[in-house]
Amino acid sequence: MNVCKIFAASVFFVCALLGCSSAPSAEASKYVFGCDCIVSDCLKELNTPEGRQRAIAWFARHHVSKIYVESFRHGEAVPTELLKTIRDEFRAAGLVVGGCFTPTSLDPSVRAKNTGKMDTQQWCCYTDPDVLGELDREVARAAALFDFVIIDDFLFTHCTCARCAQAKGAASWADFRCGLIRDVCRRIDAAAKRANPKCTFIVKFPCWYADFRHAGYDVAADARALGAAWIGTETRDAGEPAQAFWIQAWANEATGGLCGGGWFDALMTSDPRKYVEQARYTILGGAKETLLHCYWHLAAPEPPVDPNHAYRRVIRWHDCAEAFRREMDGLEKLAARVKGAELEGVRWARAANATGADRGVKMLRGGVPVKPVLADGEKAFPFDENAFAKASAADLKAVHDWVAERTGWRLDAPGDVTLHIYCKNGRRFAALVNLRDEPVDATLAHRDGGALKKALALPADDAVSCGADGKIRLAPKSMALFDLE
Ligand SMILES: [Zn+2]
Repeated sequence: MNVCKIFAASVFFVCALLGCSSAPSAEASKYVFGCDCIVSDCLKELNTPEGRQRAIAWFARHHVSKIYVESFRHGEAVPTELLKTIRDEFRAAGLVVGGCFTPTSLDPSVRAKNTGKMDTQQWCCYTDPDVLGELDREVARAAALFDFVIIDDFLFTHCTCARCAQAKGAASWADFRCGLIRDVCRRIDAAAKRANPKCTFIVKFPCWYADFRHAGYDVAADARALGAAWIGTETRDAGEPAQAFWIQAWANEATGGLCGGGWFDALMTSDPRKYVEQARYTILGGAKETLLHCYWHLAAPEPPVDPNHAYRRVIRWHDCAEAFRREMDGLEKLAARVKGAELEGVRWARAANATGADRGVKMLRGGVPVKPVLADGEKAFPFDENAFAKASAADLKAVHDWVAERTGWRLDAPGDVTLHIYCKNGRRFAALVNLRDEPVDATLAHRDGGALKKALALPADDAVSCGADGKIRLAPKSMALFDLE
């Protein structure tokens, strides 16, 4: 008996006792979309009353209710008085306000050397006492102002200096760095609590999970050390499209339930439809909240272009924000459906401290409803997931048979149609996402029978239609939720 059936049976029992006809449902609270204002925002646009009012209006238009005000990034600090002004004005407008901190170029003596370097090359050496001193000071400064502070990606390090090499000894770089960053997390927590006992720093892990350990991230240990974590779901143009779903669902497990949400951006995203695809998958993966990085990109009056940074050349940031705005009502409905639901599917294990790419990410592209777990997954997957994206429905028949045997759900669809299955309050529902740039036909059924009813379609209701013959037609880059009735 699976969880769905156990729940249905117990609801029936309780309802029989109480004489009610349906299970009580909790009042759904509004889904939280957040946005961070990076140092450049604070120093420029948010440094005037008019700019702050423009930001407050933009947040309202985009249903953003939680703001992370950044105090430090790439060696540049926002004056404390300005941070207070921004915080207080945002709070007065009804926004929930916390901090953001990016530990890059912390050592004043190396800042000049780092000028012009890519963001990802400005990591710190955490055996450097000057870096640790500056870290303590900046953490305390942010903690004194905010009760929660999110750390942008760059807590990792690739330092191989003589001091780090000596401290490493015979250990591998991965093991040494994981121990080092875990200690840095503990240090951050201590410095924050000294300044403000109510303050929690949040470690936000990047999207590039395959290299976490090499760069010093131990997801479980770091989350535990700080008591809070987030995950990056920014798949952009080049990433595996369904990874946002997979990494969100995996991070929820790997952090031991401490993952507060998913964060994505519009960098290197040439198609606004791809931007909202990240939003949909983040929510389908079970993100408790979503953070849009960042106000400077999405809303600044002049989107910044830095010709030295190739990854910033694709500038459709305002178009991405507009695509999100058009879809946010639907995304809120999607989040309300997924909230509290149990993700089901083919259990595919990846330990919290694993390294290298995960097959489950590409398995999704063949319609395999992957459920990331930390252990006790399927023993093997007897197909080549690298061929799934371009496969026809006929090519994938054996894969879909294999899935049906394990989950009860039978899909018939070409590759790049992803399936995600859930159970909530004893009722099953499923999501189908069409990643293709063309319409696709699919069928979906469960072996226990029952009719599929479209509950929600994005970007608009008419993007997905269901024929009398059971055929589902999904428009290019669309998705739908179906209840099994
Ligand atoms: Zn070093």
